[in-house]
Amino acid sequence: ATMPPLLSAIANAGRHGVLVKSAVVMEQLSQVQAVALDKTGTLTEGAPRVTDLRPLAASGLTEDTLLALAAAAEHHSEHPLARAVVDAARARGLDLATAEDFTSAPGVGVTATIDGRKVAVGAPARLLEETNGRTEAGAAVLAAELEDSGHTAVVVLLDGAPVGVLGIADRLRADAAATVARLGALTGRTPTLLTGDNPRAAARLAAEVGITDVRAGLLPQDKVAAVAEQERAGRRTMVIGDGVNDAPALAAAHTGIAMGRAGSDLALETADAVIVRDELATVPTVIALSRRTRKLVV
Ligand code: ADP
Ligand code: MG
Repeated sequence: ATMPPLLSAIANAGRHGVLVKSAVVMEQLSQVQAVALDKTGTLTEGAPRVTDLRPLAASGLTEDTLLALAAAAEHHSEHPLARAVVDAARARGLDLATAEDFTSAPGVGVTATIDGRKVAVGAPARLLEETNGRTEAGAAVLAAELEDSGHTAVVVLLDGAPVGVLGIADRLRADAAATVARLGALTGRTPTLLTGDNPRAAARLAAEVGITDVRAGLLPQDKVAAVAEQERAGRRTMVIGDGVNDAPALAAAHTGIAMGRAGSDLALETADAVIVRDELATVPTVIALSRRTRKLVV
């Protein structure tokens, strides 16, 4: 028997490195009118490295003790930034203390109890506002400096007080700019960037790939709201993301696509399709494939 066109299209998408989860999704791909991309792990390689260690003078911590503290707290997180912190500590041969009461908040960071003290690691914009009126000025200034130079800054708090800032940098994917351009040509509108990262680093990266509509500092529900805004404007919207923080937006989107290699389990489960081969450029390819298939079906 000959395979129905949608099923052969799914097989074909698979050969291009995209796992399309159903025939319905294969058909939906042809209808996408707008695309929103996540930044960390989606437009970037998702293999960030710690480049700067800045203990606050008043903390009494060294570069190594600051890093070891952050890594102990990040140990149980699957966030790309967490992996960067743990890898950096390993590379320096640091011993990591055992963390208890681990919690993680998407788009914010992590908390844990280490040697009886509360440690928090995460976004300066989220964690420093909660310590208002204390010693956050130094940390906020260090974070802003790092962000201005395109880094993601992560602040470390000990018992509620900032003790240092880490600078983390990630590389843009080699096919990011070309994919943004192809998606723009296919849909007739330039994709938007939705990120939980800081506005400074986001704007810098967006400019490099030709994106002008940048939404930064977003929590998971803010990403959903940005998708809803597109849908209200009558545009069927594709979301491409990798993180736990992207899962609600992947679910809310007309079509959700997850980055397979380093994507979180939740993103992979929630998405309609998964980029198995780690290439962003496969997305416009499967949209074009879906459009060709549609002509055969109707
Ligand atoms: P993106 O939307 O670009 O993928 P996320 O929403 O995953 O980014 O993260 C947004 C911000 O939240 C990060 O830039 C970081 O400041 C903070 N953050 C989230 N998770 C962690 C973590 N495990 N460790 C440190 N910071 C974190
Ligand atoms: Mg991400």
